[in-house]
Amino acid sequence: MAADTSQQPELIAALTNDAPLIIHWLESLGMMFDKHPDGRMKVRHGGGTCRKRMHSAGDMTGAEIMRVLRDEARNRTGKIKILEFTPAVELILDDKGNAAGAVLYNLETKEYYVARARAVVIATGGFGRLHIQGFPTTNHYGATADGVVMAYRAGVALQDLDSTQYHPTGAIFPEQNVGLLITEKVRGLGAQLLNIEGEQFCFPLEPRDVESACVIRECMEIGKGIITPTGRHGVWLDSPMIDMLHGEGTVRKELPAKFIQFKRYDIDISKVPMLIYPTLHYQNGGIRINEWAETSVKGLFSAGEVAGGVHGRNRLMGNSLLDVLVFGRRAGLRAIEHVKSSKAAGKLSLGHVEKFNKEIDKAGIDNGIQSPLILPNYAPDHVRARQIGQGSKN
Ligand SMILES: Cc1cc2nc3c(=O)[nH]c(=O)nc-3n(C[C@H](O)[C@H](O)[C@H](O)COP(=O)(O)OP(=O)(O)OC[C@H]3O[C@@H](n4cnc5c(N)ncnc54)[C@H](O)[C@@H]3O)c2cc1C
Repeated sequence: MAADTSQQPELIAALTNDAPLIIHWLESLGMMFDKHPDGRMKVRHGGGTCRKRMHSAGDMTGAEIMRVLRDEARNRTGKIKILEFTPAVELILDDKGNAAGAVLYNLETKEYYVARARAVVIATGGFGRLHIQGFPTTNHYGATADGVVMAYRAGVALQDLDSTQYHPTGAIFPEQNVGLLITEKVRGLGAQLLNIEGEQFCFPLEPRDVESACVIRECMEIGKGIITPTGRHGVWLDSPMIDMLHGEGTVRKELPAKFIQFKRYDIDISKVPMLIYPTLHYQNGGIRINEWAETSVKGLFSAGEVAGGVHGRNRLMGNSLLDVLVFGRRAGLRAIEHVKSSKAAGKLSLGHVEKFNKEIDKAGIDNGIQSPLILPNYAPDHVRARQIGQGSKN
């Protein structure tokens, strides 16, 4: 791969240096990593790696991380206040241009609130639900780039937002599973990609951009894809190969979530292959941060998929779950320091939003797009017309 100049070395140093600490911390919270019988951590190859370094918890690593983190937050009831269904819709700055809080919107009561804060951390995730280039996505419904929009209006520096990651193996059959992620671990365990002739057409563990391009070319240019009953193009991912290589029952044991997900539709992926095509997976760029998760606005921090610079323009597998924890922790530590050392915020202001709106008017832009979007509306027009209070075009 060509050198990626948008990747910031100081962020990679933070990521790699903090990695052992994060793994140790997760273990101490009770996370169940995949291990050998003698207690050693299992490590595997992912696409584009020269060393085995992927840690996992079945095929539900993210869910397992969230299980222990959520418990930890709940166990500290009283110290951590959680507001559900109340997204941030705008950042608030003070008269010196420092972060001073956010405007929140209660989705149930439809009321707005002002949350004052001397430190604000943006960690709103990626932009998969914008369905860039019309691709389905692996992302949850809230992945609509809200953090990027709010930061942009506050004048925060952004980077590499034109760079998007498509995961090569998104399900395309059955229709209910379209866009669903088929984890890289499947190929890590030995499953190959096959065209309609049963031929292997690329090495299965290329980086995601290369692998995705191979699949798209095989379907759209070479014409050796498989077409589903609804007209989607894809290739086979031969999961039964895994049991042949590692013994009967491996698919069920190593990939329990995917096994159940397909079994619901009477498809046994240890016996029949899956049909896949690339799916929109990850926002490579985002809010520009330094190694302490600080943005260009004082008191404003950012961490996770919404931030750019850690992975450059092409993330390698497995690095995001590490990224969110390394920079989430760093953002938290720095935010505490900032709060202790800074004076109370000055006069609260939404002047940056007014300025942004004036610039939009001046440029004559009126595209009717609502932003931040919060949640996309998938209802077709005729259904939307019947929805109460749904004036939005989005
Ligand atoms: C199916 C799937 C599997 C993956 N597997 C792996 C893996 O094995 N290894 C790996 O390294 N990476 C993996 N990734 C990538 C990784 O999970 C994500 O990049 C990571 O979870 C992003 O975490 P985050 O905290 O930045 O954002 P998220 O987990 O997306 O969390 C953002 C949160 O912010 C909330 N939010 C959004 N907008 C607002 C707003 N305006 N106000 C308030 N809250 C808001 C959202 O509701 C959400 O709760 C996977 C991704 C997917 C989709």
